[in-house]
Amino acid sequence: MENATEIDPMHVAAKLVGFMPENPLKDPFQAVWVHMTSHYTKFQIATWGSLLVHELFYFGACLPAFIFQFIPFMRRFKIQADRPETFEGQWKCFRLLMFSHFCIQLPMICGTYFFTEMFGIPYDWESMPAWWNIGLRCLGCAMIEDAWHFWLHWALHDKRIYKHIHKLHHNYPAPFGMVAEYAHPLETIVLGFGFFFGILIFTNHFILMWAWVVIRLVETIDVHSGYDFPYLNPLHLIPFYAGARFHDFHHKNFVGNYASTFTYWDILCGTDKQYKEYNAKIEGKKLTKSD
Ligand SMILES: [Zn+2]
Ligand SMILES: [Zn+2]
Repeated sequence: MENATEIDPMHVAAKLVGFMPENPLKDPFQAVWVHMTSHYTKFQIATWGSLLVHELFYFGACLPAFIFQFIPFMRRFKIQADRPETFEGQWKCFRLLMFSHFCIQLPMICGTYFFTEMFGIPYDWESMPAWWNIGLRCLGCAMIEDAWHFWLHWALHDKRIYKHIHKLHHNYPAPFGMVAEYAHPLETIVLGFGFFFGILIFTNHFILMWAWVVIRLVETIDVHSGYDFPYLNPLHLIPFYAGARFHDFHHKNFVGNYASTFTYWDILCGTDKQYKEYNAKIEGKKLTKSD
């Protein structure tokens, strides 16, 4: 019996949790969170707060690559250097984004409050899970979204429906950050379901809604940024993370690399074949040059 106690999985898990470091930003974050929850209603936080988080992080994440186009030094990191960003292209993208954010996504965001009320999701500081617990739940959300995105995105490339819905997102063969949500309203809604499935399964506190939306925005804007910083971008520390080069190839080639965040679905289904061949060709050219 004594041995059974020693290998009790709950006992091991409790010990492991004890080794997790504290969030270094815990104190200032606590002050902001407590101030917010004591000054605003749940409806205001879930609706206007979520809209604010979405807009701030969307355009905040787009900003670095937007600035890079004005810095000649950064051009060496642009994946499709022969297709630079244009003012017209970016302005057209921005206008459709405003329509999409306020006419399609805002009504969807309005459902947040009713969802949290229906499932009794807490907002208070005391019941907020630890940062690593939130991180693991976001990873679960990302894996579910990635699977949904992969199969639906592949289906949207079917010849019979491509021109009606997904063609709009492919208006930009060399993407830039803002292109991430440049899509037909139907695509925003259908692919958006993948975002909500994880929430339905993993939400145990309101913070997860914001944590997951921030992670998803940073990821999708990174893969659309058009710039690749292989050794500097911390997102590449995540196993199987697709990255900008992977999705940039999808915009350039139209075929293959259908997943949003990870590479494993494309590897398993062989839809990364043309990408692998392209990379092998580039490597071959590099080797011939150095000979
Ligand atoms: Zn895309
Ligand atoms: Zn596509």
